[in-house]
Amino acid sequence: MVLAQLGGSISRALQQMSNATIIDEKVLNDCLNEITRALLQSDVQFKLVRDMQTNIKKIVNLDDLAAGHNKRKIIQQAVFNELCTILDPGKPAFTPKKGKPSVVMFVGLQGSGKTTTCTKYAYYHQKKGYKPALVCADTFRAGAFDQLKQNATKAKIPFYGSYTESDPVRIAVEGVERFKKENCDLIIVDTSGRHKQEAALFEEMRQVSEATKPDLVLFVMDSSIGQAAFDQAQAFKQSVPVGAVIITKMDGHAKGGGALSAVAATKSPVIFIGTGEHMDEFEIFDVKPFVSRLLG
Ligand code: GDP
Repeated sequence: MVLAQLGGSISRALQQMSNATIIDEKVLNDCLNEITRALLQSDVQFKLVRDMQTNIKKIVNLDDLAAGHNKRKIIQQAVFNELCTILDPGKPAFTPKKGKPSVVMFVGLQGSGKTTTCTKYAYYHQKKGYKPALVCADTFRAGAFDQLKQNATKAKIPFYGSYTESDPVRIAVEGVERFKKENCDLIIVDTSGRHKQEAALFEEMRQVSEATKPDLVLFVMDSSIGQAAFDQAQAFKQSVPVGAVIITKMDGHAKGGGALSAVAATKSPVIFIGTGEHMDEFEIFDVKPFVSRLLG
């Protein structure tokens, strides 16, 4: 279910309840069940939805609803607050400082949009006055370095990589050292994409992380991976210290639910979303406007 539809379904559920003459437990349950269905269809993890329903029931007082208060508003506020709480892990992500070298390592599944997002992130900061640089430590996928090189050249961002060196740790360390010497203040390390089961690649990711000591590990996730979001995000978090999340492909048939699952699994905030294939199709993620849009 795309975001706009989810908002519509939730609004409809609230409206129906609001129209009921008497708000009893059954009417409230029907409304919450409708909301639950809408969230599940948007790929919010089952456990998150169940916990949310329990919390809302605890917060919403049926006596208040019966006394003629604005029922729609009370429940809408409770749903809004619950979704915001899920999306806000309570600690802000690391932000790079201009003039001080920071290392940001990107991790994610193959095809998630990781390499594209590295350049978007670099380009975004370059426009803000940072001096970014890109390091391709993906020696696993043929063509990865060419792709990064092409993107970096287009954005006029310095890059480092190798066609012959097969050790990703070595490339990562060399690239980071070089760009520190060149006074770059945002050194972005792209790592090999992987599938959940690939233990060897997870180990490689851990080694790159240990060798480069990133200030931030950024987990990139495709918004369309559905209910798998929670487990995948958790698998990455168990291997490397993920500190923030970027959700890609929020354009088109994007589902919002994966964002909630990724935050819950990594206990890290979503900081940007990707909204297209182009370099500037990249937006800061703000919890409250996102949830407002979600609720329609
Ligand atoms: P990687 O394997 O994770 O490095 O993925 P790539 O960066 O190569 O991206 C895989 C595909 O997703 C490419 O065709 C990208 O153009 C596309 N892509 C990446 N981010 C977005 C996005 O935000 N929206 C859309 N529509 N496509 C994207």
